Amino acid sequence: MSTYQIKPAGVTDIGNVRPTNEDYLLADGDLFVVADGMGGQGHGEVASRVAVEALKEAFAADQTTSGLVEAVGQANRAVRERAEQEPERRGMGTTIAAVALVADDDEGRLVVVNVGDSRVYLLHEEQLTRLSRDHSRVGELVRSGAITEEQATTHPERHILTHALGIEPEIEPYVAHAEPHPGDRVLVCSDGLFNELRNEEIVDILNTVGQPNEAVERLVALAKDHGGNDNITAIVLDIEGSPSESKPQSGSRPR
Ligand code: MG
Repeated sequence: MSTYQIKPAGVTDIGNVRPTNEDYLLADGDLFVVADGMGGQGHGEVASRVAVEALKEAFAADQTTSGLVEAVGQANRAVRERAEQEPERRGMGTTIAAVALVADDDEGRLVVVNVGDSRVYLLHEEQLTRLSRDHSRVGELVRSGAITEEQATTHPERHILTHALGIEPEIEPYVAHAEPHPGDRVLVCSDGLFNELRNEEIVDILNTVGQPNEAVERLVALAKDHGGNDNITAIVLDIEGSPSESKPQSGSRPR
């Protein structure tokens, strides 16, 4: 079983400009998800909620890495089926970024999956690394070296996704694993957060604000202060050790 516990906090906010909040979040048990819907006229709201609910249900039946990947496929099909039933919603889609504690092995570890440009970051020893991979035009430009991360946040094509749930019949999410340590923090967020904040601002808040609920409130409030041009969603997970489950030293050490 896992040797650590997760303390989560999540906030979603409409921001300052958009008429509706098309983001959706789930922080439930061992599954943490942010989805950013698109499609206009309220359809994005439906896409993100349908996707997250389908993902949650499918993952509950198989809490492994392959179970989570399959759950993303179920979420994709659920959005497409809804659009077929309600043709005015045709073309709606959503990003998804999920972190889960999986039972693939005895230790328990985090698996990250994503489609689109919602992100997952890991803060370890005060350093922030990104665990997800953007499926976006600017993401490709950054990876090819054509533009910098900084330029990507203001690039005119920053909202163009190369993959999203609900669009293609089959989808392959990006998959990554992390071995978290007590004291680490994980951030799951929509582009309404990271497009408004510089990396250093995210790092500063995650490093200095003690409780996850306060950290997540501060992140979202700062993104609103900086414009709040999109819906803003963030989940902060604190990884905490549980000493009662720490493993005894086994075997003999050479002397
Ligand atoms: Mg967005």
